[in-house]
Amino acid sequence: MSASMSRSRWPDVLPVGRPSIQCCASCGAEYPDLHASPQCDACGGLLEVRHAVPADAFAAPVDGIALRASFANHCCARPVGHASGVWRFQSVVMPTAGDAIVSWPEGNTALLQRRALSQYVGVDALWVKHEGMNPTGSFKDRGMTVGTTQAVRVGASAVACASTGNTSAALAAYAAQAGLPALVFVPAGQVALGKLTQTLSYGARTLLVRGDFDDCLRLVQDAARELGIYLLNSINPWRLEGQKTIVFELLQQLGWDAPDWIVLPAGNLGNTAAFGKALREAKALGLINRVPRLASVQASGAAPFAASFADGFRTRTRVQAETLATAIRIGDPASHDRAVDAITFTDGMVLSVTDAEILAAKRVIDAAGVGCEPASAASIAGARALVHNGVMRSGDRVVAVLTGHVLKDPGILVRMHQDAAFPEAPANAPIEIDASVSAVAAVLAADARSRSTVSPP
Ligand SMILES: [Zn+2]
Repeated sequence: MSASMSRSRWPDVLPVGRPSIQCCASCGAEYPDLHASPQCDACGGLLEVRHAVPADAFAAPVDGIALRASFANHCCARPVGHASGVWRFQSVVMPTAGDAIVSWPEGNTALLQRRALSQYVGVDALWVKHEGMNPTGSFKDRGMTVGTTQAVRVGASAVACASTGNTSAALAAYAAQAGLPALVFVPAGQVALGKLTQTLSYGARTLLVRGDFDDCLRLVQDAARELGIYLLNSINPWRLEGQKTIVFELLQQLGWDAPDWIVLPAGNLGNTAAFGKALREAKALGLINRVPRLASVQASGAAPFAASFADGFRTRTRVQAETLATAIRIGDPASHDRAVDAITFTDGMVLSVTDAEILAAKRVIDAAGVGCEPASAASIAGARALVHNGVMRSGDRVVAVLTGHVLKDPGILVRMHQDAAFPEAPANAPIEIDASVSAVAAVLAADARSRSTVSPP
């Protein structure tokens, strides 16, 4: 595996005092941190970032306890950059960003506990890390604050990405803040309404490509290479540096007492890769004593990584993706190799759940007053499946990551609640009434009757 070869070449963290580098996981080439191409010039392979162990005021390497304290000190500090849930971890994300930081600020997302979700999954200690609470409503803001900062650092004239929607919304918002022209490639007719309208609102030039996400990805890479635009796809190594902070932040919220499992939706595998990298570094830096197991959950209609996992990662699978969870409708994940490393390193699992299981989980998440976009519900559906299969035990401590806000996909909500032809009965259809108190009373009475005849779940 190319990914594992790179591991023997570079340690997870560099010796103290060394500048950050970008290194090619395929051929071993090494580039300075301000190298502007997100891919290896020599072989086209994906790059990974390595930082030195953070140092104290006397240039000595800090231990895990001191590093935890430095993160805590930055929690609510000014300037604004450090109020961010990404930039308080700057020493392990982008140590030399200086005053180039483009921050909303982002991160600092809630770690929730809800009885209904614990019961549904079947574990007592379940936390939900809700990344939909980021400024543009998805975890993508964490990667984009770092990626856009890198674009500013390398003097980019414009930025671009291909996206199933959330990335384009984040790119558009951060490019607007940085004053950079933004170009977004999305598959025509396959992007959720909330995300597309966000992208348009923030002012990115939006191109609806006749093709699927994988076509968009190929096109944006060619365009970036030939037209000199800075590429901010999930293959961009700096975006993964930002996404690592989901893990650092949840570990910090748990007092650095690592959970047994971290469960996440898996599409292009950028998060799986970023989570694995974060856990490698957290262990190497002494932030945690043991490593949680990752569980990456795909939609069964878009599950090439789950197929590769079932085959012991001997083959890399590609599929024609189809799922209503548009954020993970990806047939040829760009970060496959580094995600393999993440699963291997954490003794992790990859599984798939059906769209029906995703929707069932989404109904429970939404009805708990939490809410999420469909792809996010794959994590709860996946955790429930792992409990059902006996892989995850009821006494395990589990963090499930929700990646996007409920309003990201209003189209699916309308179908779930108002379309009688949608799978299962309409869940909570609005009721039109006359403008009278008696009509309201009739609705309340009918609801009370149905509650008394339906046994609790
Ligand atoms: Zn290379």
